[in-house]
Amino acid sequence: MATPRITVLAGDGIGPEIVASALEVLNQIGDFEFDHHEFGGCSIDSTGVALTDETLAACRDSDAVLLGAVGGPKWDTTDPDAPRPEQGLLGLRSGLGLFANLRPVKPLAALADASPLRPEVIGGCDLLVVRELTGGIYFGKRGREGDSAFDTCEYTVEEIERIARVAFRSARSGVTSVDKANVLETSRLWRETVVALHEREFPEVKLDHLLVDNAAMQLVSEPTAFDVILTENLFGDILSDEAAMITGSIGLLPSASLGLDGPGVFEPVHGSAPDIAGTGKANPYATLLSVAMMLRHGLEMPEHATAVESAVDSAIADGVRTADLGGAATTDDATQAVLQRLNS
Ligand code: NAD
Repeated sequence: MATPRITVLAGDGIGPEIVASALEVLNQIGDFEFDHHEFGGCSIDSTGVALTDETLAACRDSDAVLLGAVGGPKWDTTDPDAPRPEQGLLGLRSGLGLFANLRPVKPLAALADASPLRPEVIGGCDLLVVRELTGGIYFGKRGREGDSAFDTCEYTVEEIERIARVAFRSARSGVTSVDKANVLETSRLWRETVVALHEREFPEVKLDHLLVDNAAMQLVSEPTAFDVILTENLFGDILSDEAAMITGSIGLLPSASLGLDGPGVFEPVHGSAPDIAGTGKANPYATLLSVAMMLRHGLEMPEHATAVESAVDSAIADGVRTADLGGAATTDDATQAVLQRLNS
């Protein structure tokens, strides 16, 4: 197999620190070719835009994209015409056709006390949120008329089917499709389409449906009842953040954004944490778990993915914790702990 080519977008704030940790781990696992590009605020500084055509072309041309995080106070502005780091994220999603966002949520037993929920409620929770990323109300027609404003939500059968396939293929025990079919027409189409696809292509997978308001309640009252949550863009944005809080620590959450056949983007859920950039306090575990997702979903190297996940679990269980997890380990301490466990 040819050496996998990874476009590396370290970004801003702690981005370069956590990505450096990821590259050390990848270098230990095998042979990879890395192509580094500026992205986000640092790209605005040098080129005037958060994502250049050249960087997008490099991403398209690679096997996977590894992303740190973007943004920071330097680029915060209320000027609607000024470039913003987040424009790079949206440009990357639409430029690579990344319609599926996958966020696993699996609280570690060793960190049960970090969750706002009781240990007996989260014990055994291991769920995946599959969110539609390029359709719905975030991309519909919007505007202002006099003193009113509107945003429109639209979905096609094709958009619903392709995201539902990702969810059914990821299921171990079942899929819960979340909508608001008692009120919204797009949700009624969503439910009809998911039911028809299920009957046609995935009859062996258990499927149930929840209204989004009920899903929000069930997520905190009985998170262990879920395997895969399938939902549209807006509901997924809100539910995935709610689900993330089950672990209680943002420094542990990875994500993958996938398209139909091109490269996926793998990144931690957290932002660029400008308040701790350069202090050595950044927790690299979410980025290392994103590397594991890249190995599994982007590069077809599932055994290596499992090895990285086990090494991270074991480092945390053995007490190698960064400040956000209540410990004193530095980014480098955490990285070395994972490298040692990968070695042994
Ligand atoms: P944030 O996630 O960067 O930080 C929130 C809090 O969590 C901070 O106290 C930070 O120190 C801490 N934290 C986050 N990641 C950590 C890590 N790996 N290790 C230890 N502590 C960590 O969110 P924010 O402060 O709201 O945003 C900061 C910047 O990041 C903003 O410019 C925002 O727009 C941007 N942002 C980028 C992304 C992305 O690149 N995908 C996502 C969210 C926010």
